[in-house]
Amino acid sequence: MTIWNLGSINADHVYAVPHIPTPGETLAATGLSRGLGGKGANMSVAAARAGARVAHLGAVGEDGGWMVERLEAYGVDCAHVQRRGGPSGHAIITVDAKGENAITLWPGANRDIEPEAVKQALQGAAPGDLFVTQNETALQPEAAAQARAKGLTVAYAAAPFDAEAVRAVRPHLDLLVLNEIEARQLEQALNSSIESLGIAHVVVTLGARGCDWIEAGSGTRHHVDAPRVEAVDTTGAGDTFTGYLLAGLSQGLAMEAALNRATRAAALKVGRPGAADAIPTAEEVERAVF
Ligand code: ATP
Repeated sequence: MTIWNLGSINADHVYAVPHIPTPGETLAATGLSRGLGGKGANMSVAAARAGARVAHLGAVGEDGGWMVERLEAYGVDCAHVQRRGGPSGHAIITVDAKGENAITLWPGANRDIEPEAVKQALQGAAPGDLFVTQNETALQPEAAAQARAKGLTVAYAAAPFDAEAVRAVRPHLDLLVLNEIEARQLEQALNSSIESLGIAHVVVTLGARGCDWIEAGSGTRHHVDAPRVEAVDTTGAGDTFTGYLLAGLSQGLAMEAALNRATRAAALKVGRPGAADAIPTAEEVERAVF
């Protein structure tokens, strides 16, 4: 089974600064690092590290070749990653001495994905494969609808949260993953409880408390505890969790077992600094003692 991920690919440019610049101020940074980021790329890396077969659908700009190479090095199939004119999606992240940050995000190529190429790529998917997307690219509802019609299991990670984006993909979903703040925002926007969304499976992540899984059929709410860890850096915890969850399902694990492994993987990630590069492998997750 393959996971088809229509997802963002971003370059994270992280500038160390003495303080967050104030309006009108010019400030010299004391450090610069560049990393692979974007919710989509992180999820593809997580699923690939979990041992799943992952085909990434998305786009980078003229400056994005190194990001495709990084994804491929993690084992992600990038045959359907488009090269577009203009800049890749990127984030300018300024971090001050206390760890406070300010982020400017440019979606770039992520919002300039060519529809026909995505359509053709998805024609290569087989019934029983999984499809996932998040709210950082173009074509979310179109691709989700096509995937559903082809018999794929369709998942959506509702981040960055936008109620309208969820509304647009909701009819095509088998699985929705969101954190508890997003869950509350969605309930308010739709004036409906999570239990009555009409989506077969909803997973609400609860940070250090683990996650809840709600089955629409029976209305049952199951809880999975997260292992206790000392949190060093929670960046990418949600992406690691979702990537591992989908990988587990694609590898034939039952939901409960897939959730268990996902919480273990996310806990390991939280104990390490960094994003994509800090996502643990399946072997590390298996060996981990908490
Ligand atoms: P982020 O935006 O930081 O990537 P999120 O807001 O999407 O995360 P969270 O609910 O904070 O989602 O975290 C996702 C999952 O990561 C949780 O369900 C849990 O399994 C794991 N996790 C997050 N924080 C911790 C923690 N402090 N200790 C252990 N596990 C954690």
